[in-house]
Amino acid sequence: MVNNEDKLKKIIAHSKEYGFVFQSSEIYDGLAAAYDYGQYGVELKNNIKAYWWKSMVQNHENIVGLDAAIFMHPTTWKASGHVDAFNDPMIDNKDSKKRYRADVLVEDHISKIESKIQKEVDKAAKRFGEAFDEKQFRETNPRVVQNQEKIEDIKKRLYSAMEEERLDDIKKLIEDLEIACPVSGSRNWTDVRQFNLMFSTEMGSLSEGASKIYLRPETAQGIFVNYLNIQKTGRMKIPFGIAQIGKAFRNEIVARQFIFRMREFEQMEMQFFVRPGEELKWFEYWKEQRMKWHEDMGIPSSEYRFHEHEKLAHYANAAFDIEFNFPMGFKELEGIHSRTDFDLKSHQEFSGKKIQYFDPELNESYVPYVVETSIGVDRTFLAVLTFAYTEEKLEDGSERVVMKIPPFLSPVKAAVLPLVKKDGLPEKAMEIFDTLKQDYMCFYEEKDSIGKRYRRQDAIGTPYCITVDHQTTEDNTVTIRERDSMTQERVSIDKIASIISDRLKSKK
Ligand code: ATP
Repeated sequence: MVNNEDKLKKIIAHSKEYGFVFQSSEIYDGLAAAYDYGQYGVELKNNIKAYWWKSMVQNHENIVGLDAAIFMHPTTWKASGHVDAFNDPMIDNKDSKKRYRADVLVEDHISKIESKIQKEVDKAAKRFGEAFDEKQFRETNPRVVQNQEKIEDIKKRLYSAMEEERLDDIKKLIEDLEIACPVSGSRNWTDVRQFNLMFSTEMGSLSEGASKIYLRPETAQGIFVNYLNIQKTGRMKIPFGIAQIGKAFRNEIVARQFIFRMREFEQMEMQFFVRPGEELKWFEYWKEQRMKWHEDMGIPSSEYRFHEHEKLAHYANAAFDIEFNFPMGFKELEGIHSRTDFDLKSHQEFSGKKIQYFDPELNESYVPYVVETSIGVDRTFLAVLTFAYTEEKLEDGSERVVMKIPPFLSPVKAAVLPLVKKDGLPEKAMEIFDTLKQDYMCFYEEKDSIGKRYRRQDAIGTPYCITVDHQTTEDNTVTIRERDSMTQERVSIDKIASIISDRLKSKK
């Protein structure tokens, strides 16, 4: 077993070595928090996006797609609240010169107290064995109760200070908790300041009067400003949804942890427009649907959990995250938010255009309410890698790293390998490859021993290796090797396609 800290490092190294993810502009020593997807990374990413698109758009007759421009009229971001409120509170340590998100420093402190509690619980569970009642223990053990109260108190102070933008109070909280910089160890902090996360640039030449525009920090606003276009041209009836996959940009204060937090990333968002008053019913529906989507991928449900937002965004009346058990612990993978009519109403005000829906059943017009599902492509990618990365000791004493990527997401579905580079085997293998490649992403390779070639396919998560040997030229059979079990079976060439397609159909 690999421990968690090591696991992230191993995933990063493996991703680079096998062409999944590279640091951006690496030959110039890289650009912080930007990554490039290599030859296998792009395939996995495309497969994740296709899975989402199919489940949201193709499988729902009342959800349609959109591909809006990244550049949007600057007023969009006034209306959405991003110009005024898309801020994170930041704080610098004067000794290390390192910059932190002030709220994250406090949240990390809370996590430390939580793990203290967890240790107490684990210890007691061991001591009491079967008879252990965790709920009762948590409610009565004085140390646990005291620490839990401490947490509640800190949360109350943090969230109310954030809500009311009392930056001095956030600093006071950091001082009161005696939080030290993890790098310098000192408590020599600057004041807390607000930092807007939107990137801006100029559009147009200076002579024609350039205007400041933003790189979109979320794809959702492209959907809202197209609400009327799509509702009218698609003759959509409420409830209906608009789905979009695209890049988003955020000037994150602290961007680390590989592709988990980047400054340029990709989102898959769906806005579902509903009758006012019915939003919480749909919110529950989408919460369940989205969790099911994750579980259907074939990753065990124990790796996911819901997290309810304690501090709601200015536009939301309910919000849950789906968290995944990343190597750094459970963290947000997807957000499901009930956004009320905030966005459409605000665009209506700022644009002066009426954005309403006439509901023939109710015989009245209203501004629809919105339930949003918003997931990061890159975080899903990291979740898949986290689940898939496996080190195995084999019976013969050797070791292998195998990426147990759910086969329907695997970058390559089958590798076709002639056993030797002569006797007509390459030609025969090429024939099989040319047929299979019409339907599946395939790989052909004749260099190196067959064992080495299998290992390389294991490392990129290819579910099947098809080996062409001398018997193939006699009876048109090949051996097909399955990635996880490593079992090999002799099958006739005309069976290969159906074996692969059966495996891809069953996701779990
Ligand atoms: P966090 O609290 O982790 O910053 P968030 O709550 O700001 O995330 P949302 O605004 O809800 O995130 O964005 C929706 C989804 O977009 C997130 O669940 C995540 O998967 C993805 N996402 C957001 N920011 C980033 C980023 N900097 N890098 C990669 N993915 C991101």
